[in-house]
Amino acid sequence: MSPFVATAATPYLPLTRPTIDEETIAGVADVLRSGWITSGPNVKALEAKLSEYCGGRPVRVFNSGTCTMEIALRIAGVGPGHEVITTPLSWVATSHVILAVGARPVFVDIDPVTRNIDVNRIEAAITPATRAIMPVDLAGLPVDRAPLYAIAKKHHLRVVEDAAQSYGTTWNGKRIGAIGDFVSFSFHPNKNVTTIEGGALVMNTEVEAKLAEQYRLQGVVRSGFDGMEVEIVGGKFNLTDVAARVGLGQLPRIDEFNGKRRELARAYFELFARPAVRALGWGLPVADFQQTNWHMFQVVLPEARLTIKRAEVMAKLHAAGIGTGVHYPAIHLFAVYRRLGWKDGDFPLAEAICRSILTLPLFPTMTRADAERVVDTLAEIVSAHLHP
Ligand SMILES: *Cc1c(COP(=O)(O)O)cnc(C)c1O
Repeated sequence: MSPFVATAATPYLPLTRPTIDEETIAGVADVLRSGWITSGPNVKALEAKLSEYCGGRPVRVFNSGTCTMEIALRIAGVGPGHEVITTPLSWVATSHVILAVGARPVFVDIDPVTRNIDVNRIEAAITPATRAIMPVDLAGLPVDRAPLYAIAKKHHLRVVEDAAQSYGTTWNGKRIGAIGDFVSFSFHPNKNVTTIEGGALVMNTEVEAKLAEQYRLQGVVRSGFDGMEVEIVGGKFNLTDVAARVGLGQLPRIDEFNGKRRELARAYFELFARPAVRALGWGLPVADFQQTNWHMFQVVLPEARLTIKRAEVMAKLHAAGIGTGVHYPAIHLFAVYRRLGWKDGDFPLAEAICRSILTLPLFPTMTRADAERVVDTLAEIVSAHLHP
């Protein structure tokens, strides 16, 4: 395959790309000129909008979705000697924050259909040390909240929903964030709405929200003109007003963005359903057009039939001007987790999917013709490298 040369007619198709409108860019310039560029009125306004979206629940924003989850665990009192149940198929941040607070992640294998934690296996993983469950809505497909919260309630566990990928997703007709215990969103540029970097935590009470503010900014509590007290060790996790202004331009567009994503996901399903393509044997995502925000469209390659590895498939797609990604390698097989005792074969269902999953381009400004080019090129590469 000759190296891809981008042209005006066929530019490189990236895996994803944020949509930032001119009004937002002008708004950011205004913030920069205003004389107040770190946390200020735009952060407050962003928190108010998010709270409104989440049914009036308290919301605080931070400079990443990672610290957001860590702070939720700290507010929940999770620490040394405790266990937190989570999935091995996520961005490594999900279990890193459990280690960061001094607790131990307890992985539970996935449901290979949804690719999310298998809720039916959670109860067997609960021990007297268990304090919380951290489910992840992979690609925006929601974990079934009814059995999840039934287990949490029965065993008096907190839930920290890693909803980094599911802003704009609903479950049972309700918005993710408007229901549940702690809900953590990420606004990284790859997510459906962005603040460049950033995250938000939805909580239950103003007491929790006050604690979140302390963990966010060195533990400081101010009063009057010169009053200042510090009762806990906090970090430096505040969001800037520049970033918050980007978020304020993004939030009103969530339904529009997710509508475009849904249309493109439908196009992908149609394209993969063509008999000659379908016969190649893909693992496709759940065709959910009610709940998921289609954060990603991920296929599982027909690994056993292929004479080339996933990396070569990705290289060939790249050479054809198409960006792809892997979300994710199994967390428990990273060196730091192997050193803590996990090994190959611990979570076979997650491992099988992690080996051959591939994320295809999907973002609001992509077109159906782009999706066609992706599926045609991918099918061509796979067809040309099948075992005889
Ligand atoms: C993006 C992401 C995170 C981390 O969010 P950051 O804002 O990048 O820190 C955590 N978990 C999942 C599942 C994610 O996709």
